[in-house]
Amino acid sequence: MTLVSLAQATYAVAAVLFILSLAGLSRQETARRGNILGMVGMVLALAATVVLALDHSERPVLVTALLIAMVFAIGAGVGVWRARTVEMTQMPELIAMLHSFVGLAAVLVGFNSHLTEEADAVHQVEVFLGVLIGAVTFTGSIVAYLKLSAKMKSRPLTLPGRNLLNLGALIASALLLAWYLATGSIVPLVVMTVIALALGFHLVAAIGGGDMPVVVSMLNSYSGWAAAAAGLMLSNDLLIVTGALVGSSGAILSYLMCKAMNRSFISVILGGFGTEGGTSAAAGEQGEHREVKAPEVADMLARASRVIIVPGYGMAVAKAQYPVADMVASLRHRGIDVRFGVHPVAGRLPGHMNVLLAEAKVPYDIVLEMDEINDDFPDTDVVLVIGANDVVNPSAMEDPGSPLAGMPVLEVWNAHRCIVFKRSMATGYAGVQNPLFFRENSAMLFGDAKAQVEEILTALRVGEGAHA
Ligand code: NDP
Repeated sequence: MTLVSLAQATYAVAAVLFILSLAGLSRQETARRGNILGMVGMVLALAATVVLALDHSERPVLVTALLIAMVFAIGAGVGVWRARTVEMTQMPELIAMLHSFVGLAAVLVGFNSHLTEEADAVHQVEVFLGVLIGAVTFTGSIVAYLKLSAKMKSRPLTLPGRNLLNLGALIASALLLAWYLATGSIVPLVVMTVIALALGFHLVAAIGGGDMPVVVSMLNSYSGWAAAAAGLMLSNDLLIVTGALVGSSGAILSYLMCKAMNRSFISVILGGFGTEGGTSAAAGEQGEHREVKAPEVADMLARASRVIIVPGYGMAVAKAQYPVADMVASLRHRGIDVRFGVHPVAGRLPGHMNVLLAEAKVPYDIVLEMDEINDDFPDTDVVLVIGANDVVNPSAMEDPGSPLAGMPVLEVWNAHRCIVFKRSMATGYAGVQNPLFFRENSAMLFGDAKAQVEEILTALRVGEGAHA
């Protein structure tokens, strides 16, 4: 067996490992194994790529090896540094930023391919599409990064005739492709790149805060197709397979998220959903709210038989998952039925809450999805809404004019009592006030979620001691 065929065989093994990895990642119980399989696949893929690069090297092998080692050191150094320093709440920004690198890589591979290779029509189309998808992904991901990290306002940019602008950009790109095929000149490629960069910016700038989760997974899908296009240009089978896997799984995830938020995929892509960005002040308060203190909540919990906890972004910010897990263990120890209700877009990235709860070792079987638990609220004594806001906003169901209108939410207000943990009366991500806070059976527990849960835990333990 030659080195090259060994490398090709390794690619096939890596591709199978990536598929098994995706299958593993689809369930919490198998996610860790899925990650490990993916990592092993990536190590094999990198090793095989290095072997092929050395084998095809036109420079002295030692120089190529040194260049690869340098690139590895820089890439791995930045990767390890970011992975160690990133906060869980900054993950979506980091992912958006990484997508932009994939887009940029596809653009660079495309131009390199144009400048260095003799191309037939099929290869020209590959180069053109690779650069197009890559450029859209690049600027789109940068805008997503800026919006998610609040460096750019998350309010949608609604230019007049924005759909016509997008359509115009696509038609212009098709005409430029014809010019490129006819002449092979770099000019149409450059003009299309500029248009595609503007298109990526405009597409994502037009999308409002509440729809960002879908955008992040859509860009994930684009980045996969950009990688697949780069694979076609480089004649690298593994990159094609991996890119297609990322592209299609990102598309499926976007579709599922659209369904969860009751949005049509097309309307999210076309953008312009009118949500005001950021955590604005308590504008538009809707009546009186009541306040409770942690010891009262502990007392309420101790007397309850059924409790549901609804976590949201604030639990991630406060890193409250650990005391929450301890509180749950303490309540279950007393024979109280405690479960979690997780909304598909709670937090800032798909599966955010599930990851945090798994990290704190909350048993999987008490973590339920919205559809599984929504009918149980009327039979629940106490609901603890811990740092969630938009995902429990009744106006999504009751106010057709609300920017959240149509999004299914956790119907926590149907429980006997609902306690909302947050620091102020400020709005959630979508920037809309939440009528839940002013309901008869709701009460606010103000303060940092972690500190409040710890206080409840202490009160519960004191109560336990008193009973003993
Ligand atoms: P929200 O952003 O709606 O609300 C979070 C709440 O947490 C805020 O009201 C905030 O109130 C509170 N909070 C923040 N820090 C703390 C703290 N330290 N202690 C206690 N409370 C805190 O979050 P949800 O999870 O309810 O909803 C997710 C939103 O994010 C949706 O609009 C979704 O569309 C969007 N989104 C989701 C993504 C995903 O993939 N899941 C990706 C991008 C956006 P206060 O400031 O008063 O404390």
